[in-house]
Amino acid sequence: MDIALIGIGKIARDAHVPAIATSPDWELAATVSRHGRVEGVQDYPDLDTLFAQRPDIRVVSLCLPPVPRFEYAVQALSAGRHVMLEKPPGATLAEVHALEALARAHRVSLFATWHSREAAGVAAAKSWLAERALRSLRVMWKEDVRRWHPGQDWIWEPGGMGVFDPGINALSIVTEILPVPIHVTSAVLEVPENRQTPIAARLDFYHPGGAEIAADYDFRHEGEQTWTIEAETDAGLMRLTGGGAHLSVDGGDLVDPNVPALAGEYPRLYAKFAQLIQRGGCDVDLAPMRLVADALALGRRVAADPFNW
Ligand code: NAP
Repeated sequence: MDIALIGIGKIARDAHVPAIATSPDWELAATVSRHGRVEGVQDYPDLDTLFAQRPDIRVVSLCLPPVPRFEYAVQALSAGRHVMLEKPPGATLAEVHALEALARAHRVSLFATWHSREAAGVAAAKSWLAERALRSLRVMWKEDVRRWHPGQDWIWEPGGMGVFDPGINALSIVTEILPVPIHVTSAVLEVPENRQTPIAARLDFYHPGGAEIAADYDFRHEGEQTWTIEAETDAGLMRLTGGGAHLSVDGGDLVDPNVPALAGEYPRLYAKFAQLIQRGGCDVDLAPMRLVADALALGRRVAADPFNW
């Protein structure tokens, strides 16, 4: 199928273009971008022009940040196109509900993606945990915002989610691998004096089985970059590291430790999107986003030092 990529920024270049290029399902037929280009691919200045000139392209993938993405999604769904959304699927829960209703009304597919759920160790972690009693689970998501999001001021604006922009990836994994739902009971949000969104956060959760669940996020972390989930169970300590790429139990590897972080995630998303369109319907799971929305609703704000690039 032909597909158009909308918003040619960091993630479009790093992950979407390569995943489409190696996919047996997809052909990158067009881009819509205000600044970026993909060599050899026809670019259009806006969605109206794309849809007018290329009625044959029935599928679009939206790689913009969440706040501007909504209007593009409305336009594409209203024009009867199947739509894939980067994570987080919106700036608010309500707007994603609205998009799903619109997709269903127009009988097209909407795919709210969670790329970290496709990481190499996640499915094995889910099966392993299904058989064990959970005692505690801890998320440690600590990265250097200057290294991974250079100059992305939208992250610090309302709707940009701050440290939860990458941090929601951990919650997408946790909500996938735990067999029961959890919810936020308290949160502390460190917000730089000159910004709108958290640079660091600590979240605590309710777990129906009484396990202690917590998440620590920090965007100021310059040491070893850490995207780790540790689960203490009645049968040992399970560790998912590298953003879900590596899985071990009590130090023994259950998934090849040499798989690079992010490997295979976007190819698997694009394969799933092709299958979704074939069978029809929507794939929209808002569980990770509910946790972030609740943390932002419930969180105690603490002033942090001003942040400047
Ligand atoms: P980005 O490079 O800052 O922005 C992506 C593109 O969106 C921009 O190049 C621009 O495209 C378009 N855009 C930005 N602001 C816009 C606005 N106000 N109006 C219209 N278009 C606008 O961001 P990114 O890092 O690629 O992230 C985009 C999404 O992917 C986010 O939701 C993020 O969470 C997710 N994501 C990012 C990463 C990562 O490592 N960066 C990883 C996984 C997922 P044009 O100039 O082409 O118009």
